[in-house]
Amino acid sequence: MTLAAAAPSPSSTLLSPDSPAIAQHPARVIRAAAMPAHTPHVPAVIVGGGACGMTAGIRLRDAGIDCVVLERDAVPNGSTALSSGFIPAAETRLQKARGIPDSLALFRREIEAKSHGQAAPHLVVAYTEGVRQAIDALEEHGIAFEVADTWLYPGHSVHRIHCVPERTGAALLAALGRVAAERGVDVLTEALVREIWVDESSADDRIIGVGYQRPDGTVERLACDALILACNGYGGNPALVRELLPAMAEATFGGHVGNDGSAIAWGSRLGARLADLGGYQGHGSWIIPQGALMTWAAMMEGGVQINAQGQRFHNENHGYSEAAVEVLAQPGGVAWNVFDTPVLDLLQTFPDFVEAQAHGALHSFADESGLAAHIGCDEAALRATLAAIEPGVADRFGRSFKRRLAAPLHAVKVTGSLFHTQGGLDVDAQCRVLREDGTPLPNLLAAGGAARGVSGNEVWGYLTGNGLLSAVGGGWLAGGTVAAMLAQETP
Ligand SMILES: Cc1cc2nc3c(=O)[nH]c(=O)nc-3n(C[C@H](O)[C@H](O)[C@H](O)COP(=O)(O)OP(=O)(O)OC[C@H]3O[C@@H](n4cnc5c(N)ncnc54)[C@H](O)[C@@H]3O)c2cc1C
Repeated sequence: MTLAAAAPSPSSTLLSPDSPAIAQHPARVIRAAAMPAHTPHVPAVIVGGGACGMTAGIRLRDAGIDCVVLERDAVPNGSTALSSGFIPAAETRLQKARGIPDSLALFRREIEAKSHGQAAPHLVVAYTEGVRQAIDALEEHGIAFEVADTWLYPGHSVHRIHCVPERTGAALLAALGRVAAERGVDVLTEALVREIWVDESSADDRIIGVGYQRPDGTVERLACDALILACNGYGGNPALVRELLPAMAEATFGGHVGNDGSAIAWGSRLGARLADLGGYQGHGSWIIPQGALMTWAAMMEGGVQINAQGQRFHNENHGYSEAAVEVLAQPGGVAWNVFDTPVLDLLQTFPDFVEAQAHGALHSFADESGLAAHIGCDEAALRATLAAIEPGVADRFGRSFKRRLAAPLHAVKVTGSLFHTQGGLDVDAQCRVLREDGTPLPNLLAAGGAARGVSGNEVWGYLTGNGLLSAVGGGWLAGGTVAAMLAQETP
């Protein structure tokens, strides 16, 4: 594979260490001649035990390199375990065996199309190749991936979503954890990394180790030859969200609390380049008050979003990420996902939805009058909205429907949510963290939500699966880069 060079980005940003949100961040960089005496050593340390960290660890162990994953929680979960676990990949063995006509080139074009050409080209090439290799290797290690083929998400023209049979991120992470354990990846839990140690005598900011806090407050240290940041982004840090994503300042965060911006705090203290900080995955279908994801497959299969005035307000097929902003702009910041029984049948194949339904999220009505009473809107307005759906004819938002919704009608109340941030440390195609001048730091890598993704600098640039694409694809690449780096250094 030929990897394109890191392209300079107009959205590159150096977040000032004086920014209040960064200044108050507990992530520290310590410059010293060496790690304290008797500090244990491991060739590679990985911060974070989500999809990215586990995949990087598996790749390292496949290459025979010892590594330790340091994870803040007692059990690794991260946003990965909260996710649907849908990983897009093209030209995998599995996809080819299914005869699905896809290619890396088509996948890359669709990522670029969704981001209107803003996605960093070198990462689009690298991550799509990385995720292909990762899925094939993980399948060989016994993960039973399947290709989801009953619906298509906005922007994907073919079936390329790979998932485990349970179709949950929790099951995906459990499978990765199982393989990691079998391959000999050491995972140290309840280890909250707060310090990155840098050799003060090196001109190039060489990392020599980390310090991590244990639940009782003590700090332990580990020396290493290479460090991979797999600790996701800053969606769980309200101060950083307010500063960098003001449109989401009041939105519910649907991701993991550990997404606290450690990677960009360390990066800004090391003079690393940050990129695409305005990019994020929003979701316009966060069920309230149950607090769960309702899959956008409902919209792709004919469902609509209705506001408190009984009206539609956007083209639901553009994508769920930008829909977060559209929903938050409606009266009360809410909407109702309205659909019919064929869509409900599909929804019942999604464990997240079934659980939300068991907690009272679903409301069903014989006709528009019951639905209007439930929403509290004018019945005539709602009837007019649904009657305006004209199969085969593009509506005023540009959406074209295959059919009308047929009674009985079902509704779920939702709001717009922030799922995870897509901006982060700028990296090259090998996932090496870049300085502001574009040169790589010698032994610091980042991937997944810790690094810049492939969604550009805006909410609408997110193509379904870009999160796990960069976590699994990037984790695989970062592990491979460190393995090659350490093999070269071994006399
Ligand atoms: C509801 C929801 C649904 C989603 N569905 C999908 C989907 O289907 N497909 C998709 O592609 N994306 C999806 N996403 C996005 C996806 O979950 C993320 O992009 C992906 O999980 C990121 O993986 P990661 O390994 O980088 O981060 P994470 O999975 O968040 O893992 C990071 C880990 O680092 C740990 N950590 C953080 N800081 C420290 C520290 N200082 N020291 C030690 N440990 C630390 C955290 O505890 C965490 O375990 C979804 C997100 C949400 C919220």
